[in-house]
Amino acid sequence: MKSLIIAIDGPSGAGKGTIAKAVASRLGYRHVDTGAMYRAIAWRALQMGLSFEDEASVVALARKAVLKTEAVIEIDGYDVTEAIRTSEIDTASAAVARIPAIREILVSHQRAIGSRGGVVMEGRDIGSIVFPDADVKIYLDASPEERARRRGLDRIHKGEVDCDEEGVATALAKRDRLDRDRTVSPLRVPSGAVVIDTTAVSVEAVVMRVMSYILDDTNRAEVGEPRDSSSC
Ligand code: C5P
Repeated sequence: MKSLIIAIDGPSGAGKGTIAKAVASRLGYRHVDTGAMYRAIAWRALQMGLSFEDEASVVALARKAVLKTEAVIEIDGYDVTEAIRTSEIDTASAAVARIPAIREILVSHQRAIGSRGGVVMEGRDIGSIVFPDADVKIYLDASPEERARRRGLDRIHKGEVDCDEEGVATALAKRDRLDRDRTVSPLRVPSGAVVIDTTAVSVEAVVMRVMSYILDDTNRAEVGEPRDSSSC
């Protein structure tokens, strides 16, 4: 019996957050949202008035940043849990994530958090770069239309009532391109990952599939007490 490292990757709107939280909660594992880390760095850079062209300054801020990714997301004492979920930060985080030194800093932070196992970590490069030997690798995907629809719903729930569907779809396609075409750690299906298309599949059905894969295939998960699923 062993505390597993479960890697969940995929593009935005594929359902990573919802599924990773639910699976972590059922296993009694920690849930780590690595996208929130890139978002927090982007938020802090904007707040400090830095330009993303000025990579040295952005990297310097990331090196010094005190990041907390438990129930709330904090950077340098600022609670940014809500503030990082905007269209502006969607774009800014993808720009920050293209800087190799930023990735090095955050990947080493992610390894430190997850290496003891008992973790469900979601992102773009978890099964490929952060934990290439993860016990379980899942890659979630969905059609571009469905992913844009989900993103639009998220935005409306968060109060961006005037967000138009076409604008969301265009922004999502642009961010997909940035994530897939970058030279460092581009979004890819990691080798050995199980690919699940979540288009038109209920959350419960996807969770069941992931859980049965984890428990049946590995049959070695050390399952703890269910805990509140909170972003780490
Ligand atoms: O997952 P989320 O949409 O919150 O991630 C925001 C951005 O952070 C992504 O568009 C991507 O550019 C970047 N990211 C990354 N690697 C990760 C997680 C997120 O490059 N492991």
